[in-house]
Amino acid sequence: MLYLSEKAPAKINLTLDAKFKRTDGYHELEMVMTTIDLYDRIDLMFRSENKVSLMSDSGILPQAEKNLAYKAAMLLKQKMNIKYGVHIQIQKNIPVAAGLAGGSSDAAATLRGLNRLWDLRLTDQALAEIGAEIGSDVPFCVHADTALAKGRGEKLISLPAPPPCWVVLAKPTHGVSTAEIFDHLKVEQIASHPATDEMIYALQSYDYDKMCKYLGNVLEPVTMEIYPEVKRIKDKMKQFGADSVLMSGSGPTVFALVQYENQAKRLVNSLRGFCNHVYAVRMLGKRRDQVLD
Ligand code: ATP
Repeated sequence: MLYLSEKAPAKINLTLDAKFKRTDGYHELEMVMTTIDLYDRIDLMFRSENKVSLMSDSGILPQAEKNLAYKAAMLLKQKMNIKYGVHIQIQKNIPVAAGLAGGSSDAAATLRGLNRLWDLRLTDQALAEIGAEIGSDVPFCVHADTALAKGRGEKLISLPAPPPCWVVLAKPTHGVSTAEIFDHLKVEQIASHPATDEMIYALQSYDYDKMCKYLGNVLEPVTMEIYPEVKRIKDKMKQFGADSVLMSGSGPTVFALVQYENQAKRLVNSLRGFCNHVYAVRMLGKRRDQVLD
């Protein structure tokens, strides 16, 4: 195969809990994560030379060595002792540094795509293990479905996809550094932990109302304290009729759940003028339609 494309979908956190700070400095996390229909497009072109190159249509993304998709290709090449190369082209639709794991998903889609382009026949599990060396969210993004993630996010237990619904996302103009938010988190001062088990049960029983009820993220108050705009957006979304609203990951993107497309459209229109980056997409929850060729 000489050329192929992969979808790299964004993730949202239905829950994010931090249990304790580990001796290695990372937090022990427990998160329910799922996949939404907002995606980057990764085009991979076979190169017979032993070289990896990368271009993206985004002015703010690292173009080469620092790009997570480039790192993924180099790591896979080295692990599998591949002597030829690839050109990676990224069409960026997922906002950067937004709490939607866009970089991790680009890396994961690159691994999945190269597995086919280079005919490596690795399992998703093997790709996820390689991806874990690039970032904690990459294993989740390799599978790109719905899962309970533990550890730093790399230990995954698969969960049923959420009931069908719409996700309206609003991102403030600034990005957020995940490291900065975790630096400000004091686990012993967390006022309320998300009900992770109840969220899992909501998914297992395919219960939209319960899924809405049990959304929770311990990083939300931390990010809101530093970036009050996040709270203003959340309040607006509630006021404009969202069934439930939560910040994803370390933020600053806030998402609202609604059941029907007309509600999603109304919410988007209400947020216009208040927030520049607003998207309405379907909940996906399951990896499907990933391949674009
Ligand atoms: P997470 O939720 O996993 O913390 P995020 O959505 O907050 O991720 P990303 O969009 O993945 O953040 O970007 C985080 C950092 O990674 C940015 O500083 C960005 O410059 C860098 N980065 C490297 N490669 C990519 C890529 N392909 N897409 C997006 N960001 C990338």
